[in-house]
Amino acid sequence: MTGIVYKSTGSWYFVKSDDGQFHQCRIKGKFRIKGIKSTNPIAVGDKVVFDLEKKGDEETGVIKKILDRENFIVRKSVNLSKQTHIIAANIDLVFLLITINNPPTLTAFIDRFLVTTRAYRIETVLVFNKIDSYAIEERAEILYLKDIYEAIGYTCIEVSATENTNVDVLKELMTGKTSMFVGHSGVGKSTLVNAIEPNLDLKTQEISDQHKQGQHTTTFAEMFDLSFDAKIIDTPGIKGFGVVDMDKYELGDYFPEFFALKQYCKFNDCLHLKEPHCAVKEALEEEEISWSRYRSYLQILEGEEETEHFRTDVW
Ligand code: GDP
Ligand code: ZN
Repeated sequence: MTGIVYKSTGSWYFVKSDDGQFHQCRIKGKFRIKGIKSTNPIAVGDKVVFDLEKKGDEETGVIKKILDRENFIVRKSVNLSKQTHIIAANIDLVFLLITINNPPTLTAFIDRFLVTTRAYRIETVLVFNKIDSYAIEERAEILYLKDIYEAIGYTCIEVSATENTNVDVLKELMTGKTSMFVGHSGVGKSTLVNAIEPNLDLKTQEISDQHKQGQHTTTFAEMFDLSFDAKIIDTPGIKGFGVVDMDKYELGDYFPEFFALKQYCKFNDCLHLKEPHCAVKEALEEEEISWSRYRSYLQILEGEEETEHFRTDVW
């Protein structure tokens, strides 16, 4: 049978098969995916092939195979060990929640996040929340940011989770897809998810009770079916995504506006710093590329950790 992993406890995987039934599955023996060293071989969102085994009254599944992943995200490593933890796989859409105030979301943070999702090939939508609470200066800041990010191909939506503004637009984007909500603590992820699906909390409770894994619900990612045709991945406690092995020459490729110009730089390994005839620097002088984006690029290139502002959680 084939199915999708909705939840994992580390030793058990809860797999929903194509006929809509949930099965408790495990892995037999060694199970390694080539190319990545991770502490968990299978993650939420993985599509798997499994067999059912009957022991007495109990029927459990044994996972035989993982189907190729469209993408996956890893946890930001907390120590220097090379082992990574895969948070989730096969994510169609990430909504990055941004607030101007309470808390402020800096462009350095936004850009770093967009580099990560682009490197992982995950479509990202920018959601400006709390628009009901902004004064004129803050509204101007949103328009300024929207100009920058819409010009380079990102969809931007202004919402208010508390006033229910444009929540239907988000629901439409989520339809038929698996989504995640990400952003600093306090940007309104829980409030927004609640506006999208008011009964989701209740559902969480049901699933955790059913499998007697309540203690794990706050530490492991979990996928939920919503009342409309959409799935959401909840990853409580995850403090941001890590990037696996990014080369400095690769970084510019994840800034779409730099990538589009790279072919016109004199050197094909141009880092867009002080090289002669750099199309990116020329576009910057012409103000066709935003200075804040270029500043973020330099910051990431120089390996400056955004210690203060790179704290985030994923809903
Ligand atoms: P999370 O940490 O990202 O899950 O943020 P919460 O959903 O807990 O929201 C943090 C605070 O922001 C709460 O006090 C919410 O009521 C408030 N909040 C969330 N969305 C909005 C909004 O659209 N407008 C306003 N004014 N406040 C909001
Ligand atoms: Zn260049």
